[in-house]
Order: sequence, then C-alpha cells, then structure tokens
Amino acid sequence: MSRILAGNWKMNLTIAEARTLLRAIGDAATSLTTVVFPAATAVAALAGERRPTDPRIGIQNCHAEPKGAFTGEISAEMAKDSGAEFALVGHSERRRLFCESDQIVQAKLRAVWRAGLRPVLCVGETLAERERRETRDVLERQLTRTLDGAQPRAPLWVAYEPVWAIGTGVVATADEVAEAHAWVLETLSRLRMGSAAGHPPVLYGGSVDPKNAPALAAIAEVDGFLVGGASLKAESFLAIGEALLKAEHRPSTVD
Ligand code: PEP
Repeated sequence: MSRILAGNWKMNLTIAEARTLLRAIGDAATSLTTVVFPAATAVAALAGERRPTDPRIGIQNCHAEPKGAFTGEISAEMAKDSGAEFALVGHSERRRLFCESDQIVQAKLRAVWRAGLRPVLCVGETLAERERRETRDVLERQLTRTLDGAQPRAPLWVAYEPVWAIGTGVVATADEVAEAHAWVLETLSRLRMGSAAGHPPVLYGGSVDPKNAPALAAIAEVDGFLVGGASLKAESFLAIGEALLKAEHRPSTVD
C-alpha cells in the first residue's frame, strides 16, 4: 500500500467548505492513500459525491453501542450507513476533553470493527509523561488495553500523536518520532496485530506542516501522517503529501 495522508478536520468547515476542500485535494490525484475526517454533518454529502481521486471519508468519533437512548450520539453503524469507511478512535482531544478512558476506547474500537469500518487508533503521551520518561509505558498501556481481545488480522491503522505536539506548533524531533514508532511497532508485534503481509501502518501526528514534513517523512517507521491544522487548506495538506512522495523512504512492510 502507498503511504498515507490523513486529515482530521475537527469541528471546522461547513458542508460547502468541506466539499470545496475535498475537491481541491481530489483534483491533485495524488498516488498516496488519502483520507479525511470531516465533521459528522458533512460525512454523508461528501461520501455520496466523492470521485475516485478524492480522499476517502472517515468519522471523527462514534458511540460504542449500535443504537439506543444516547441523545446526541452517532453509532459506528450510522457512520457506515452515511458512507464513512474509517473512524478515528482514541484521539487525545476525545480522551482529554471528553474523558475517554482506555476502556471506552476499547469499546469504541470493537464497535468500529463490528460496523465494518477501519479504525485509526490514536495513542500518545502527555508532556508530563514524557518528562517523567514514561512514553514507552504509556504507549504500551494504551495499545495493550485498547487492543485486548482484538482479532490479529482486524483492519487497523495506528497514529502516534504525542499530546504535547497536537495543535501546539511544537513538533517531535525525528529521533523522538523514530523511537516512539519503533516501540509502537514492537508492541503491536507482541500483541500479534498484523498478518503475514506485515504490520498495521503507523502514522505520525502532531503539528505536521509543509516545513517539517520532509524530515519526518524520511523516517523509515513512519507510514504516513495524520494532520490537523494544516489539513484545512488544500495547499498545505498537499505540500505535506508531496513530502511523503519525495522522501527517501525505506518502507517497513505494511498491511
Ligand atoms: C490531530 O488533531 O490529530 C493533529 C495532529 O492536529 P495538528 O496537526 O493540528 O497538531
């Protein structure tokens, strides 16, 4: 599979704005695998209209239950029904602002698989945890708890997103990213996630922009990027994609 360029649009863009952005990205017809995560209100419209070169569509969040009395929530089945193919699970903003524990993330992962969507499981340490040198423990704990009982060959992408680098403009150094990705891969292999074809792709996310993307794209363990702020403009998102395409990269085998 080609390297991956994913954009998390968060709580931004009207349907009309989202449509314009999707088309501008699709017009570039990049050979990367591209996915965007619009607000839930835009998913059905974008999924229904997408052209073959447009990014694929994911949902940013879903509830663990398939249906019921959960006012304001959307199930994974509903996301699938609206045309989503992917789902972000365990994003640090969900963990931090909406109190999502590893247990909740695990339940949502199962829901996403149950509905036939591909999860992008986000993991990452806070600044305090990094300063206490707990990065490895945190990543191992998040992966072990959330993937407990998962089918080894279940469709899965993982995003390593250090919390201190998300939306802050502070980007992890190439060494920090390489080390964390290697540890995520080691942990996934210990958890037997993957198939004979290789391990699940591991994306890096956290203040990726056109300037820092070339150095990050050269890291062998980086299979792509999950981009927040810089994904809201076609120009910067596509420039990050260019960096992935141009980098001297020896890809590790991915599923
Ligand atoms: C994100 O929200 O997943 C993210 C990586 O955001 P940003 O690129 O803005 O740091």
